[in-house]
Amino acid sequence: MRKTSFGVATAAILLSLAACSSGSDSASEDQRLLVATTVSPITSIASSIAGDRARIEGIVPEGTNSHTFEPTPQVAELLSNADLILVNGLKLEDPTIDLASNNKKDDTKIVEIGTIVLPESDYIYDFSFPEEEGKPNPHLWTDPGYAIEYAGVIRDQLSELDPRNATYYASNFTAFEEDAAALGEAVAADQLSVPAGNLKLLTYHDAYAYFALEYGWEVIGVVQPKSFSDPSPSDVARLIDQVVAEKIPTIFGSEVFPSVVLGEVGRVTGVRYEDSLRDDDLPGRPGDPEHSWLGLMKYNFQTMVSGLGGTPTQLDAITITRNTPDSAMYPQ
Ligand SMILES: [Zn+2]
Repeated sequence: MRKTSFGVATAAILLSLAACSSGSDSASEDQRLLVATTVSPITSIASSIAGDRARIEGIVPEGTNSHTFEPTPQVAELLSNADLILVNGLKLEDPTIDLASNNKKDDTKIVEIGTIVLPESDYIYDFSFPEEEGKPNPHLWTDPGYAIEYAGVIRDQLSELDPRNATYYASNFTAFEEDAAALGEAVAADQLSVPAGNLKLLTYHDAYAYFALEYGWEVIGVVQPKSFSDPSPSDVARLIDQVVAEKIPTIFGSEVFPSVVLGEVGRVTGVRYEDSLRDDDLPGRPGDPEHSWLGLMKYNFQTMVSGLGGTPTQLDAITITRNTPDSAMYPQ
């Protein structure tokens, strides 16, 4: 075994040396599709489907606010070379879509995955995404069922552009679908361990509206206003009242949006403030198995179930293995 894998590794090194030796021409000789994506969870799902047969390059750096993100001029170069541009849509990445429209090749499609997957009648509007602004809550991918639908759209787009690899993309989709479905089943099982009446979320960033609807959780509030600035004193007072009235054990913040206000709500109410949810910031480092949509959502669901007084036994038992190597580019 050892000898075989050494042989394979050696061959891979020789191949990559051969590619390097052609110098600056190597990129243009790469016949694989170049796919531009935006936020890291979508980049990861795309990479799970593409494996090593298409190049995936993310645009929004991990750990930045995707809702206010403005692409730098360098992103235009990627967009001008891309064969396919995958965005969430639902008005999340309008500046990037504008830049893409102005720079892309004529026959390159901009595919708004969320807009394809979600019928307008299912749009959720709420405190952070009020209807009068015309921007629905865009966070479909935190729900395992929608993540599977995202993967299906990506499979279809890749297969249309690259039909020779359609069977490969289809089998990668099946593997992703199994993993995401298993994650969904684990959350559904583990949430039963949460004491009755506790499946209530107060988060800083409003990322769980569709998940909560699907899994029977209640989003009792979010802190971040539509401007993505700090909430007003009256909003904070209202949140404090809600936390007290709903008797929730933990309120949740995230690393992407550190919140003094939420810490203060926790202090005033005596409720635990858990600040380690990860919004678009995948755990570990690029290339690690847990640096993936699956790793991200496993971590977030474990943290939420534990925080609400449950025991995430099924989630803990999920081991994350990659079916294909993840060679996507994740800007940091
Ligand atoms: Zn978000």
